[in-house]
Amino acid sequence: MSNIQSKTDVILIGAGIMSATLGALLKELNPAWEIKVFEKLASAGEESSNEWNNAGTGHAALCELNYTDEKPDGSVDITKAIKINEQFQVSRQFWSYLIKKELISNPEEFITPIPHMSMVQGTKNVSFLKKRFEAMTSNPLFQGMEYSDDPKKLAEWIPLIMEDRKSSEPIAATRIDTGTDVNFGALTRIMFEYLNKQNVEINYNHIVNNMKRTRDGQWDLKVRNMGTGAVERHTAKFVFIGSGGGSLHLLQKSGIPEGKGIGGFPVSGLFMVCTNPEVVEQHHAKVYGKAPVGAPPMSVPHLDTRFIDGKKSLLFGPFAGFSPKFLKTGSMFDLITSVKPSNVFTMMAAGAKSMSLTKYLIQQVMLSKEKRMDDLRGFIPTAKSEDWDLLVAGQRVQVIKDTEAGGKGTLQFGTEVVTDANGTIAALLGASPGASTAVSVMLEVLTRCFPQEMKSWEPKIKEMIPSYGQSLVKNPELINEIHTSTSELLGLNRELATVK
Ligand SMILES: Cc1cc2nc3c(=O)[nH]c(=O)nc-3n(C[C@H](O)[C@H](O)[C@H](O)COP(=O)(O)OP(=O)(O)OC[C@H]3O[C@@H](n4cnc5c(N)ncnc54)[C@H](O)[C@@H]3O)c2cc1C
Repeated sequence: MSNIQSKTDVILIGAGIMSATLGALLKELNPAWEIKVFEKLASAGEESSNEWNNAGTGHAALCELNYTDEKPDGSVDITKAIKINEQFQVSRQFWSYLIKKELISNPEEFITPIPHMSMVQGTKNVSFLKKRFEAMTSNPLFQGMEYSDDPKKLAEWIPLIMEDRKSSEPIAATRIDTGTDVNFGALTRIMFEYLNKQNVEINYNHIVNNMKRTRDGQWDLKVRNMGTGAVERHTAKFVFIGSGGGSLHLLQKSGIPEGKGIGGFPVSGLFMVCTNPEVVEQHHAKVYGKAPVGAPPMSVPHLDTRFIDGKKSLLFGPFAGFSPKFLKTGSMFDLITSVKPSNVFTMMAAGAKSMSLTKYLIQQVMLSKEKRMDDLRGFIPTAKSEDWDLLVAGQRVQVIKDTEAGGKGTLQFGTEVVTDANGTIAALLGASPGASTAVSVMLEVLTRCFPQEMKSWEPKIKEMIPSYGQSLVKNPELINEIHTSTSELLGLNRELATVK
């Protein structure tokens, strides 16, 4: 045990996009607060937030078909799409504020305009897409979306997908040019550089192993310096567990009653990455399809143009996989050690309920490269095996809990903020819609943990996020204003041709 001990206002555990966002919000709201970060890896944004570990979609519900359900009467419910779009507008506003104040710079390093498209085949799916298009374009948030079932038009939009397409099934797509590709890894690193300049103490190679509440209601963390092996003690008034897949174990260690009865189930992601620059050049969009029947929502297949390190690339996936690890750099014992007396029945109930997911994951794990290429050929009929490699992406730990609607052991696909009754600790669990909604989710953490401060913080929050507290969907003028100002500040008015 080393004799390093410290007391601070805030500790953020993990250096991913969530801690970066919360740290940046807090530094603007209360610059006097002392913040420390502990990250077990050697640098920021190396786990799920890393650019190669996620799909980099700025989720604004412009192309993801799983955010718009078909109701029994045949109409399309766009409620979830509205919520996700509004959340993404909140992120855009905060990133724009950081640029405007020159706290961060070079938005082209982390956000690039790219058309977002949905594509379906078969009469039933085409009819659904048309109805979805009609429902969405009657809403001010989704203006500019186009629809086509004309193969000639589609060949203009997605030449690679339409080339040599033999199927006689009807095919249709929607396209909207205001979509984005976000390099969340770059953004995380840029935000941590900014935090470092604001005197936030960032401790890499430091793993938080345990925590307990002190008598005066603070949190005492046991942290191991992985370089020296020394064990340090750090106390804070507020702790954020932003440890991605590592959050569940730390939440359990905190012992707060709100964390009891929650379990986690890891699902790995795999992408195929194109190694042939000539093929990469022929595609310029994020094209989302429909998930196969029985597949979980995060398995919607998509063909994505990405911009990483100033280079254009092409990814297809995700394929799901199974690994008991909760982090890509985690341990094979993560799943088993997350089962505690307080969640064992919830986990058992989930196991019994999730037979279709288990079956789906087993099938996915067994896929050979050629079988994966067959899936890819549903998008690019001319795809050649030698042009594509497999890329292991991040781990998503889906939350399992008892819910009124789903009963005992229900698998959740969204994110979950868990806080204690006094607002001294918050943990973020789950992974979807993920990094795109980081700012809204961290505002939720602030609202729940700092109710007293929120009143005095409100003017500053409104300066950072002009739409804060307002419904955008009811305020088309505000949508236009925000869209114009954030596009300009984030450099999204760049001609699409210049980023090809
Ligand atoms: C395959 C895949 C595709 C995705 N696609 C998208 C997408 O297209 N768009 C989108 O918006 N989102 C997407 N997501 C979700 C998104 O990546 C995550 O929601 C987001 O990155 C989570 O950020 P985080 O900061 O919570 O976690 P992370 O980025 O995982 O960061 C957590 C950090 O905590 C550290 N840590 C863990 N335990 C400890 C400990 N005990 N002590 C110290 N440090 C610790 C880890 O090393 C890590 O650096 C995707 C995720 C996956 C896996």
